[in-house]
Amino acid sequence: MTAFSVATAAYIVAALLFILSLAGLSKHESARQGVTYGIAGMAIALLATFILVVDVSDTLGIVLLLVAMAIGATIGLIRASKVEMTGMPELIALLHSFVGLAAVLVGWNGYLQHPVYALESLERIHSAEVFIGIFIGGVTFTGSIVAFLKLSARIKSAPLMLPGKNYLNIGALVAFVALTIWFVASPNIWLMIIVTLISLALGWHLVASIGGGDMPVVVSMLNSYSGWAAAAAGFLLSNDLLIVTGALVGSSGAYLSYIMCKAMNRSFISVIAGGFGIEASGGDDTDYGEHREIVAEDTAELLKNASSVIITPGYGMAVAQAQYPVADLVRKLRERGVEVRFGIHPVAGRLPGHMNVLLAEAKVPYDIVLEMDEVNDDFADTSVVLVIGANDTVNPAASEDPTSPIAGMPVLHVWEAENVIVFKRSMAAGYAGVQNPLFFRENTQMLFGDAKERVEDIIRAL
Ligand code: NDP
Repeated sequence: MTAFSVATAAYIVAALLFILSLAGLSKHESARQGVTYGIAGMAIALLATFILVVDVSDTLGIVLLLVAMAIGATIGLIRASKVEMTGMPELIALLHSFVGLAAVLVGWNGYLQHPVYALESLERIHSAEVFIGIFIGGVTFTGSIVAFLKLSARIKSAPLMLPGKNYLNIGALVAFVALTIWFVASPNIWLMIIVTLISLALGWHLVASIGGGDMPVVVSMLNSYSGWAAAAAGFLLSNDLLIVTGALVGSSGAYLSYIMCKAMNRSFISVIAGGFGIEASGGDDTDYGEHREIVAEDTAELLKNASSVIITPGYGMAVAQAQYPVADLVRKLRERGVEVRFGIHPVAGRLPGHMNVLLAEAKVPYDIVLEMDEVNDDFADTSVVLVIGANDTVNPAASEDPTSPIAGMPVLHVWEAENVIVFKRSMAAGYAGVQNPLFFRENTQMLFGDAKERVEDIIRAL
């Protein structure tokens, strides 16, 4: 048996493990097992690739490979062990950018190794692979960097609205198609440079044009792009496993983006085309009047007398790590006979399922944690709603103001309740950068301060 056949067999095993991993990750109960399959698949893939590419007589090559693997593994381990749950999306965006950059470099390497081909049909395919790989990689690279900067709040999450932005995107795509034909007919380094620059600019512009409210879809879309970029690199490197894995990531990411778009009432095409058809709505300078404030003791009084309470947590609960006192408060209220439930928005926090994970961590019973659709009709019959660190996901402008950047996004109808208490530190806007008229409603009172401290104050007062 040759090293090549062992490595090929190992690739098949790794590909199967990746498929099992995706299947496992699709369900809460099997997610942990899915991750284990993924780790095993990746370990086998790494080992097999090492066996495939290594030349036993080339000691320097082996040393360089081992050093590169050790550096990568160390950085990965340190970052993964330190990352906070709230920092996961930005880390994922950064990792996607590496895949994009790798695809660009593999494309350039493919060209530099064989700059000119005899123009026979199969060899033209190589040129097309180089060009397409660089384009997808470039878009993924800068798109993911912008997503990283937006998710980590290093740049504003509001959409960039360049004049004629849709024409810029379409122009870049048309230029790419025309240049690909040209390059396949006659490869040259200037076309390589131009396509690299166009793809980098397009990736930057596509993601910069998308508003904060649509970022969950963008993250899964970039996940999909990174898969296609890996598949393109796989073609260039003639690596079957990279093609299979890239296609798995690409198609599952595309499907996840589609599901998220449907859940958030967004057009899939509009989002993947960088907010195509979404026009600038201008800043919201509406004067909503004065807000009212409440203190923890009065909130406790309100809760004592309430018959039903719904808690709608958001990103601020994760930042404050308020889930433990919140779980305590729920226990105390239920002991007093108050009906307490949670209403969870599908994109609350910064990860799909973020709030469910936090509440499970704090041992809140599953049966009182309801999805948005299960709870939205019940707000009108609810005495008190506690909005704990949520903002965009409870913004009535989404359903009432067609000019709002988040118009059409389904939100929790908290304003229909008798009393709404909003826990946050200031009057600042949420992630989408949109003013929230909820804070100025007659039945809303603001409880300012860190969510964890305020919930603890309420528990003391109770
Ligand atoms: P938002 O991000 O809209 O708002 C969170 C609020 O929490 C802020 O207004 C902030 O106000 C408050 N807050 C922050 N820290 C604290 C603290 N320590 N104590 C009390 N309050 C605090 O939250 P939502 O969960 O409602 O919405 C999620 C947003 O993130 C949506 O726009 C969604 O599209 C986007 N997103 C979601 C992803 C996902 O997969 N779930 C991924 C990427 C983006 P203040 O500063 O005044 O305290």
